[in-house]
Amino acid sequence: MSANPNIVWLKRDLRLFDHAPLTQAASRGPIILLYIVEPELWAQPDSSRRHWHFVRDCLSELGGHLLKFGVSLCIRVGEAVHVFEDLKAELGAFSLYSHEETGNHWTFMRDKAVQDWCNSNSIDLFEFPTNGVVRRLKSRDGWAKIRDDRMRSDILEAPLNVAFFADVHSHDLPGKHDPMFGAVDIGNVQSGGREEGLRTLNSFLRERGRKYISMVSKPGVSARHCSRLSTHITFGSLSIREVEAATYSKLKSLSDNQDADAVYFKRNLRAYLSRIAWHCHFIQKLEQQPDIEFKCMHPAFEGMREPHFREDFLSAWYHGQTGYPLIDACMRSLHQNGWITFRMRALVVSFASYHLWLDWRKTAPLLAKLFTDYEPGIHYSQFQMQSGVTGINAIRMYNPIKQSIDHDSKGKFIRRYVPELENMPDTFIHEPWRSGDHLGDYPAPIVDHATAIKFARQEIKNRNGFEGFKEQSRLVNERLGSRKKQPKRGTMRNQQNRKNQSDQLSFDL
Ligand SMILES: Cc1cc2nc3c(=O)[nH]c(=O)nc-3n(C[C@H](O)[C@H](O)[C@H](O)COP(=O)(O)OP(=O)(O)OC[C@H]3O[C@@H](n4cnc5c(N)ncnc54)[C@H](O)[C@@H]3O)c2cc1C
Repeated sequence: MSANPNIVWLKRDLRLFDHAPLTQAASRGPIILLYIVEPELWAQPDSSRRHWHFVRDCLSELGGHLLKFGVSLCIRVGEAVHVFEDLKAELGAFSLYSHEETGNHWTFMRDKAVQDWCNSNSIDLFEFPTNGVVRRLKSRDGWAKIRDDRMRSDILEAPLNVAFFADVHSHDLPGKHDPMFGAVDIGNVQSGGREEGLRTLNSFLRERGRKYISMVSKPGVSARHCSRLSTHITFGSLSIREVEAATYSKLKSLSDNQDADAVYFKRNLRAYLSRIAWHCHFIQKLEQQPDIEFKCMHPAFEGMREPHFREDFLSAWYHGQTGYPLIDACMRSLHQNGWITFRMRALVVSFASYHLWLDWRKTAPLLAKLFTDYEPGIHYSQFQMQSGVTGINAIRMYNPIKQSIDHDSKGKFIRRYVPELENMPDTFIHEPWRSGDHLGDYPAPIVDHATAIKFARQEIKNRNGFEGFKEQSRLVNERLGSRKKQPKRGTMRNQQNRKNQSDQLSFDL
């Protein structure tokens, strides 16, 4: 036991349950639970008030919980190294505990600065894995097993009888509307907090997840049938291990039940578990190669889109004014709600990247600000995949009209978010320009689908022909690619597997 305080630095792990740094720190002596509000972090191009809204809910709930024990969460506003310098001046020596974070370049540099400061100030720093992402991994071979072992190891209860270090000064928690958090509107985004997270998890496993596979891509109903746990996992109000464990436990409870309903539910839960594994798989890419936030994974695609950049295209796409109803409905719904389902994310990024030929580095930060669940490792890897710049994934150019017919056949979702088309007959809802009617304020299509796709295909083909292209792809695959074998073509079951996978990413993991 140590009499010096043990500081637990909360970052994107805003909970007390299944929290290794907290459990370890509490076993060593009195603790301080610290959250640092870093103005420079919140000024980054990928940060937004939506994230703060969620984080603040989590911190308020945690703070309320601690008050029951007569202590408060220590909030400090400032740059991390300065905060630790101040704490050292106030408290003397301490030990520091935190989870490893795979964040953006800014948090990577901040963590390095804190590590250097700890080294030169004789402060013990203990960092713990957050999920299945492995730091300093030598090779992707064998990664999946390490991930699975970690996920299935014992979950940690919130520690009991914790000794808190009482006399530590705290700043006020900034409000949701504090100007520090930028200009993006909060909108109608998801609320944070562990209680909310557990309610969401329970309702998914009890009922909402029954039709997960068939509803995951339907923009009008996916908000109900998807888990909606991504933001809780991103900011750590739930640990991904507990989400996975709860899903396995539900599967176990259904294991002897051979009713058609139960069998169907189990299939849906298994599909859900594979998405949970993708979470770590994608973040591992950023952990392995942090510059994928800025550089194309395959160098042949550098410089391909920049010379063609059109600010007016970027603005039309961002504001839902492209003239393609489903694209516009998705973007407008995202502005309002901070979330759209995977297929619609892939669709709007594919449209921006291929039809409008916009570089992913222009579009990714804009959606990072709009997504409440922004997780850098998933976000940048997915942006690169959906823009065709990885060199290891199949190129997917979605047809926005076909997607609209397939996933919003009656145009209910479109009409909800594009009121200009409220009275458009079903026959023309996916291609209103064909109706011959005057469309009022709604724009004509910004580009012609066939012409835009022809151009994009040719450009990609040209790059594929660059000298050394295949060798570079091999290197990308070795460093970042999945080791999971794709099912062979042929049998019905394999075709079904392929179809299920193709709902999201048939080519990776
Ligand atoms: C361009 C693009 C950007 C994306 N950016 C993010 C992001 O910033 N943050 C984020 O959490 N997800 C991101 N995704 C992945 C996916 O769309 C979201 O995880 C999912 O829509 C979140 O809703 P949910 O929790 O209801 O998902 P569910 O379908 O219920 O999935 C459960 C969990 O599995 C994980 N997951 C699901 N799909 C994927 C996937 N394709 N790749 C990796 N993990 C997955 C997430 O942790 C998610 O919470 C992105 C996808 C695309 C195409």
